[in-house]
Amino acid sequence: MNILILGGGGREHALAWAVKQNPKCDRLIVAPGNAGIAAIAECADIDILSGTTVVTFVEENAIDFVIVGPEAPLAAGVADALRAAGVLTFGPSAAAARLEASKSFTKEICDASGAPTAGYARFTDKATAVDYVRRTGAPIVVKADGLAAGKGVVVAMTEDEALTALDDMFGGSFGAAGAEVVIEEFMEGEEASFFILCDGTDVLPVGTAQDHKRVGEGDTGPNTGGMGAYSPAPVLSDEIARRALEEIVKPTVAEMARRGTPFQGVLYAGLMIKDGAPRLVEYNVRFGDPECQVLMTRLGAQALDLMLACAEGRLAEAQVNWAADHALTVVMAAEGYPGAYRKGTAIRGLDALPEDSFHMAFHAGTAERDGAVVATGGRVLNVTARGASLREARERAYAMVDAIDWPEGFCRRDIGWRAL
Ligand code: ATP
Repeated sequence: MNILILGGGGREHALAWAVKQNPKCDRLIVAPGNAGIAAIAECADIDILSGTTVVTFVEENAIDFVIVGPEAPLAAGVADALRAAGVLTFGPSAAAARLEASKSFTKEICDASGAPTAGYARFTDKATAVDYVRRTGAPIVVKADGLAAGKGVVVAMTEDEALTALDDMFGGSFGAAGAEVVIEEFMEGEEASFFILCDGTDVLPVGTAQDHKRVGEGDTGPNTGGMGAYSPAPVLSDEIARRALEEIVKPTVAEMARRGTPFQGVLYAGLMIKDGAPRLVEYNVRFGDPECQVLMTRLGAQALDLMLACAEGRLAEAQVNWAADHALTVVMAAEGYPGAYRKGTAIRGLDALPEDSFHMAFHAGTAERDGAVVATGGRVLNVTARGASLREARERAYAMVDAIDWPEGFCRRDIGWRAL
């Protein structure tokens, strides 16, 4: 079959890498793709936020199946447009994507379904929100309601920080995303990510992971899109995963179906785990980046079969063939990230790296210029390895990092520390 993947980051490189290994895949196109993806698939530079453009492209290229990588096209209704045109699609409708696009919507679903999460209050008016923070005190968590690329959340350890966050959000720093603000109880515990395929009715867990949000070793410095990840996450034991599925995920899926907006795609539940009990921090409606890289490395070719079963409503009969393995990815970023960083620096040594089912250097922000690979983004490479143990996966990943010649890049040297 002919397959189109939307997106152009490390997540989509990992999706393409897994899909490509499946004999069902004939032609593979990724839009817009990147320099790494171009080595294994065709790349097409189209506007992936426009449903009409994507549907036209699908018809012109006889595409049989579309996998939507990032949240923006989902929130923009691209999956709706595709399904309306009769195209088999992996990814939720815009109505179901509100589980990521609106934090207050997710809270409403938790209320209706009884899923455990932090206590909260919603505000559209600054004075009332300020009053609430003064009465409640810190620590407290202040969130812009809409999509803000991970920057719309302030975990305030003092009342002053919370008040400054309210100034910013109601002052328009996040545009329409900050028109409504959700203020939450601060939850303590250890965070982990749980990925579950949902076909509207049935669910199938496809792995657990932990990421590393801070830029510096020992989880210090500013927040980033993620500096590394590993799977599985030992903190999400089988028993806690079972509870999360029964107490959080299944009630959410049932409530979405009851409302006439069934969720179809991958639900990424960010969980806070304390004393053996999971609570929901947030939902995302697509694979995490870089968590997808470790999940795809572990799933390999079967990822396509699972996404097809999800899109065709056949999850009840699907199952994952797990190997007893571990995967770890190290993000290499351009110097300066997550602040201002240099673009266009050359990366050498990629050709000499091993590329097999145990080693992959996924590209996140690269382009090819005059035959050389150059950095074009903040997060640039996702150096990923698989092993019989997390330690082995980590040794393999850092051996690859050390073989890459990119003086203007950096990475954290402690990915996996929590589990090791
Ligand atoms: P991202 O997409 O980057 O994960 P986001 O903008 O969707 O972020 P959240 O995941 O809701 O926002 O929050 C970001 C981070 O803030 C969480 O990963 C968690 O570390 C912290 N956080 C959010 N809510 C709470 C809470 N109620 N208690 C403690 N920490 C929280």
